[in-house]
Order: sequence, then C-alpha cells, then structure tokens
Amino acid sequence: METKVLINNKHCKRMNNNIFGFDLGGTFLKYGIGNQKQGLIYFNKKRNPSKSIHELMLLFKKILNELLELHPNPKCISIASPGIIDCSTGLILGSTPNLPYLQGENLLKLFKDITSLPVLIDNDANLMTLAESKQFLNKSVLGITIGSGIGTGFVDFNGIFHGNTWKGLEAGHTIIVPNGRQCLCGKKGCFEAYASANSIIRIMNENFPETKSLTIQEILNLVQTNSKYYSTMQTIYATFATALSNLIMILNPDVIIIGGGVIEIPSFDFTYLKKGTIQLLSKEYHNVIIQKALYGNQAGVIGAIILGSQT
Ligand SMILES: [Zn+2]
Repeated sequence: METKVLINNKHCKRMNNNIFGFDLGGTFLKYGIGNQKQGLIYFNKKRNPSKSIHELMLLFKKILNELLELHPNPKCISIASPGIIDCSTGLILGSTPNLPYLQGENLLKLFKDITSLPVLIDNDANLMTLAESKQFLNKSVLGITIGSGIGTGFVDFNGIFHGNTWKGLEAGHTIIVPNGRQCLCGKKGCFEAYASANSIIRIMNENFPETKSLTIQEILNLVQTNSKYYSTMQTIYATFATALSNLIMILNPDVIIIGGGVIEIPSFDFTYLKKGTIQLLSKEYHNVIIQKALYGNQAGVIGAIILGSQT
C-alpha cells in the first residue's frame, strides 16, 4: 500500500489549524492532513472494499483514529465524495455506479456518530477543480476528471459552482450524440458514454474483439503502435473535443484542467485532443488554456483541505 508522509509526525502535532481531508472513491479511500499555508503534509490511501454504508463508516472510523494518532486536534474534517450532493445538509441526491449504496445517505449526519469535529462535504470533481484552481490567480477554472466515469467542476471568484439545486455542471451526462450510445445514467448519447475509461474500453472491444481482455492503458498503447485501431480512437477524440468545445462556449473559462486515470496514461494523445478542441472554436476562444491536472490522485484530498481551510 502506497504511503506518503511528507513531514514527520512531531511537526504535524504542533499545527493546530490542520484539516483532515478525505477523497471517497469506489476503489480507494484517500486521505490526508493539511492546511492552507503548507498544503498537503500527510497523504495515504486504503482500499475501499465496503459494500454498505455501515462498512464504509467503519472504514472512515478506522482511518479517523489513525489520523487522530498523528494529529489529535484538527480544525475540521472535509470530504470529497462522488455523486450529486446537497452540501448544506450532506444529503447525497444522486450516486455513482461504483458506490450505489451512497444514494439517499447523509455522510454529515453519519459522521456525528463517530466524531464531534465539524464535517464538510462537496463533490469530488468540484474539489479536484478547487485544488487545481489554486495555481491560477483570479482565473475561472473548469475541471474535468476522466476515470471510470466523467466528473466536472467549475470554480471562479464566487467559489465552486453548484447550480440551483446542487445539480449543476453534470457535463458527463450532457448529450453530444442524439440517440447515441447507452449511458449508465439511463440516457443515450452522453459525453460519458464516449470518453470515460469504461466507455473507451467498451467501444474498442465492440470494434476489435481481440482487445477484450486489455486494460485501458494496453488499449491506448495499441492505438499508438498499430494504425488499425487509430481511426476508432480518432472518433473518440473528436467526440471528446466536441464536448470540450461546447463547455468552453457555455462557460468561457480562463483555464480547463483535465485529470483522471485516462489522461495520465502516456499514450493518451492530449496534444491531439487539445488541437481538435481549438479547431472547433472560433478565434475569440482560442486563448483558453487547456492543460493536464497537476495533483493527480491527491487532488480530491487537497481540494477537501482547501474547502476546510475556507471555513
Ligand atoms: Zn449519462
């Protein structure tokens, strides 16, 4: 299990404005300690095998005890969670296929059973965007994470954009191909049904049965070395670029940050995607900065810590 301790425990215990940040995922529960001044000072992750909210809360409790050993007096706890979340109450309004039992649960209420510390929550893509936005002073930032699904967040001088009823900017489920590929959300033709890791694998498997046992990394490597696969992948890049150009026209952000497991694979052609996106835009939008995420798998925890430090 990967463990990163960025400063020693003695130093950690001296701080009194530290925040415990969690990033809840279907495979791993990532967590850390940090503060606004120093950023992330401790990071770790544990596999998340939980199949119920009860099992998940037991895992949270175990990790919380581990963090309290390192630092007994944090300012608060802050959680990055998948799904659509009413951040004022903590109610999870819409879940993800990876953690279906979250639907209708309230993590803020459940945390009251295991700690008396203040607890905050927001969507994981929102907090990834918040983390990445800190490298750009006074800029509006659209964040997109491409993993098993697609998450999007938008941060500007007003802070995180949530929409009218916490359901804003679900760009992964905007339809880009009418009556297109079936999406897990129930609709057809969503952005996520073309550009998430699972969708890329599915599209390649359907067109090339010999790719069936391959991982996303192996598939992208194959595309890079064998022209037979390239045109199918070009269509995926083109669909991806269409979604990005639409988002740029709607939000007019200064910066787009794209992260997640797929983007970090070296054979993912980020330059091609960028060029394809710019080609779809009129000149007045060409100054948008499009770049890869900086913080990798730590972004959710860092964003949670920033959220906690803002209170
Ligand atoms: Zn969808």
